[in-house]
Amino acid sequence: MLIRLCQHSFHIYDLLIFSGALTLIVYILLPHRFALRYDYIDRKHMEESLLAETTTNVSRTQLSADDCSYKEVIDGSSFVYDAFHREKIHRGEEIRLGGEYQPEECRARYSTAVIVPYRDRQEQLAAFLSYMHNYLRQQLIHYRIFVVEQSDRKPFNRAMLFNIGAKIAASYGYPCLILHDVDLMPLNSGQIYACSALPRHMSSALDSWRFHLPYRTLFGGVVAISTAQFNMINGMSNLYHGWGGEDDDFYERLKVVGVEICRFDPAYSEYTMLKHKHEIPNENRLSLLRSASLRIHKDGLNSLEYKELERRMHSLFTHILVET
Ligand code: UDP
Ligand code: MN
Repeated sequence: MLIRLCQHSFHIYDLLIFSGALTLIVYILLPHRFALRYDYIDRKHMEESLLAETTTNVSRTQLSADDCSYKEVIDGSSFVYDAFHREKIHRGEEIRLGGEYQPEECRARYSTAVIVPYRDRQEQLAAFLSYMHNYLRQQLIHYRIFVVEQSDRKPFNRAMLFNIGAKIAASYGYPCLILHDVDLMPLNSGQIYACSALPRHMSSALDSWRFHLPYRTLFGGVVAISTAQFNMINGMSNLYHGWGGEDDDFYERLKVVGVEICRFDPAYSEYTMLKHKHEIPNENRLSLLRSASLRIHKDGLNSLEYKELERRMHSLFTHILVET
């Protein structure tokens, strides 16, 4: 009897190992079986989804030039995260002090402020700046890179740095904000850095997520949102100190005002994330998130308090050093 029991449990144990191994093999060989499907704008409709709006100096200084065409940029999208684009900046003299660029041969249809929250990631920032200036110029857009650095040693407040960057970008007249982690690089040349009519989640196919979207309401990493929409939801929350939750809070705000988000075709939305250690999670993030919709009108741009210690024009970016 005892022997039979042992034999019996041995079989169950065997079976468990076997099914575990099988699941693992299927997962490794066929990751798309687990892919989450989501709606996206296909190539043919990308250009029409974009908001044509620039700062006034673009429309004033290039009255005689023809509008740039974005069809070739979108249709010709290809993998560009190669050594040529990564290793050094080409034709650096085209970039204006403060990290601004606008094409000369045609009049840009989009003006975008790329806002990067930053602290202690020097190597990543260097890699970001050289790749992104090569990447963005091939898109024929007008853009400027703002790096907002938290100077104090309090837990990192990503969302507050975005609020600060957005406020400053708006003061320079930028109608479109791209809120951008410093460690994310777009792989495909056609992910146009301009705002869509709906806020757009741009980094929806991330290599560290095996190029799949982990959940449909994810709205972090790299997002594009018009300055008007960002203002309408009172920006982001200032209360998230430390890692996590602020991006979900941001999504909740859009939900409250009934604004949906959009994404481009995954073939245009591939990003790679540079390696880094995990930051310390914010223990309060879940309880904060539960009250997200209640805080929208009192916590955000209208309650933003910080000290600007320095604003310096570097050759590749505008550096804003703040105390939170
Ligand atoms: N960040 C930073 N310094 C830090 C923590 C975060 O510059 O100490 C910025 C940086 O732009 C980074 C972003 O905040 O890409 C998001 O943080 P992290 O990369 O740790 O988040 P995760 O990759 O886990 O989503
Ligand atoms: Mn990261």
